[in-house]
Order: sequence, then C-alpha cells, then structure tokens
Amino acid sequence: KPRVLSGIQPTSDSFHLGNYLGALRQWVALQDTADAFYCVVDLHAITVDHDPKVLHERSRVSAAQLLALGLDPERCTLFVQSQVPEHPMLGWILGCETGFGEASRMTQFKDKSSKQERTTVGLFTYPVLQAADILLYQTDQVPVGEDQRQHLELSRDLAIRFNGTYGRTFTVPDPYIVKETATIKDLTDPAKKMSKTSSTPKGCLYLLDEPNQMRKKIKGAVTDSDAEVRFDPENKPGLSNLMNIYTALGNTTFEKLEAEYAGRGYGDFKGDLAEVVADSIGPIATRTKEFLADKAELDRILERGAEKARIVASRTLAKAYKKVGFFAPA
Ligand code: ATP
Ligand code: MG
Repeated sequence: KPRVLSGIQPTSDSFHLGNYLGALRQWVALQDTADAFYCVVDLHAITVDHDPKVLHERSRVSAAQLLALGLDPERCTLFVQSQVPEHPMLGWILGCETGFGEASRMTQFKDKSSKQERTTVGLFTYPVLQAADILLYQTDQVPVGEDQRQHLELSRDLAIRFNGTYGRTFTVPDPYIVKETATIKDLTDPAKKMSKTSSTPKGCLYLLDEPNQMRKKIKGAVTDSDAEVRFDPENKPGLSNLMNIYTALGNTTFEKLEAEYAGRGYGDFKGDLAEVVADSIGPIATRTKEFLADKAELDRILERGAEKARIVASRTLAKAYKKVGFFAPA
C-alpha cells in the first residue's frame, strides 16, 4: 500500500468547499487504498495572526469535521501536528538544507505576507516545515489542491537533495492532485481561490454553513452579464466555477448542464445548484456536532493517532539525526 500524508490548517471555524473538493474528499477515498496519515496542522496555523483562545478549539472542530466527512480512525491515522514534536525537529534540519533564494520563490509567501500587517520568519519557512510533515512519514503521495503544488515541489527537491548528500533517507513524494477540482474559486471573486483566511464570508462556502446560507451564497455568486450556461473558464470564470462545483457534487457533466439549461438563464441553474450543495454538504454540520458532543472520545482518537504517528516519525527522525552527524552518547 502506498503511504499517504496530508494536512489542513485550523485557521477558521470551518473548512470550505475548496478544501473539500480539492483535498478532503480524496483523503476519505484514499483510506481504502493507502496507508494514510492525516493531520490538523496547528503549527502552521500560527504563521498568520491567530487567537490563542480559539486555536486549540479549532483544532478539535477541525478533527470533528474530518471525522464527519468520513475519516475513520480504524482505517487512517488522524492526529494534531503539535502533538508530534518530530515535525519541527526535522523542520530544523531541512531548513538548513533549503536555499534562501529557493525559499524566497514561494508564491504563497508573497501572497500571504502582502496581506499581513506583520510578516514573520515562520510564515517564510512554513513550506520547509511542510516538507518535514511529509518526509517524516516516507510519504509516496500527498493529496492536496493546486495551490500546494509549488510547496510539494520543494518537498521533493529537499528529499532528493538530502538523499544525494547523506544517502537514501527519505521517500520522494508525489503530489496527488485531482485536476477538475484542484482550484475552487472564490464565489465573489473568481480570480482568486476560495480560502479560509482571505476570502470574504460571501465568497467562501463553509462546510458548516446553514443550508440557507449555502443557498444564498450560491445564488449571490458572481457570474457574467450574458446568460448562456457554457463551460468556459477563461471568459466565464464565475459560471465555470459553479459548473465545476455542480459536476463534482451532482452526478452530471458539463455537456449535460449546457443542454439542460440552454435558453433558461442563470437563475434556474443557480437555484438547482444551491439544492445540490445544500443536500450534499448540509449533513456535515450535524455529524460534526455529534463528534464534538463527546470531546473525551474525540481527544482519545487524536491521542491514539499521535501515538501511531510518532512511531513512524521518530524512526525517520532518528535516521536523519544520525545522517547529519548529531551527537549521540556512546
Ligand atoms: P488558509 O487560507 O489558512 O491557507 P486554505 O483554505 O488555503 O486556508 P489550507 O489549510 O491551507 O486551506 O489547505 C488545506 C487543503 O485544501 C490543501 O490541500 C489545499 O491545497 C486545499 N485547498 C485550499 N483551498 C483550495 C481551493 N480553493 N480549491 C481546492 N483546494 C484547496
Ligand atoms: Mg492555504
């Protein structure tokens, strides 16, 4: 079985449709075919402004959402990143293998730092810690959205470089990106990706939204002034994003949608899509609440997950420590 690892940041009270279609849906599917490790990456969450009073609860709500989406602790290892100290420990080593210029090329840093009042070294080195997250588990495949492709490339480069310098230590990971849903766009600004931290509430369809909020957001999504339902991401980015969501959640194709809504305009289309979204995403909130109702059990799941993760992570870290020549008492 291939080894799979991926993570998600507890940077908001709810995940969104982009997280789900771009990554989390694949996480659930891969449980059956892979040896899967999934983590709520709270170390990454403090790279942007955060409120310590809510962060720990968001980690829990994040884990509950993942379980609600179908992650099964019997079939995958689910844990919170800060519970596995090997991550920042390997991160330090990899930071010393990363070129400053190389790290400076990360476009997400440029993007996120321009939106922060204060930019930290942590935000700058976050892709290095992400490489540690991945390499610790000898990961073959990393299910993520398109926005993570460049970071994945860095993880690969670091693995190849480290192996070249010190001898075979890490598996070189491959991105696992589903093309059709690799980037779900912001509903009010289809030039941007939907994001937990930079979308407006109207542009971001949260998994924990009330069904009526979901309907409102879909109906309020930006389209164009013409009224033809046609898949054309270049000229009709807003509508094409909605068609993408429709085909991903409903059992249909672009061709079928184009035929079905020919001459009917956007109103009918958005109304029907709103129902598809409310039907498929709506139940997640209820299931999340159920998992949150038993915090003791939820925390036990995460504790067991961290124990399982540490077994693998500590083995890789010990290997890396030895390779770089760290002191070990005789
Ligand atoms: P943040 O704004 O805090 O960075 P985010 O929405 O980008 O939040 P992450 O926690 O950074 O979410 O990413 C979790 C996963 O979701 C990653 O695999 C990422 O590639 C994927 N993802 C995030 N946004 C989208 C999107 N709009 N479309 C598809 N996949 C996405
Ligand atoms: Mg992100």
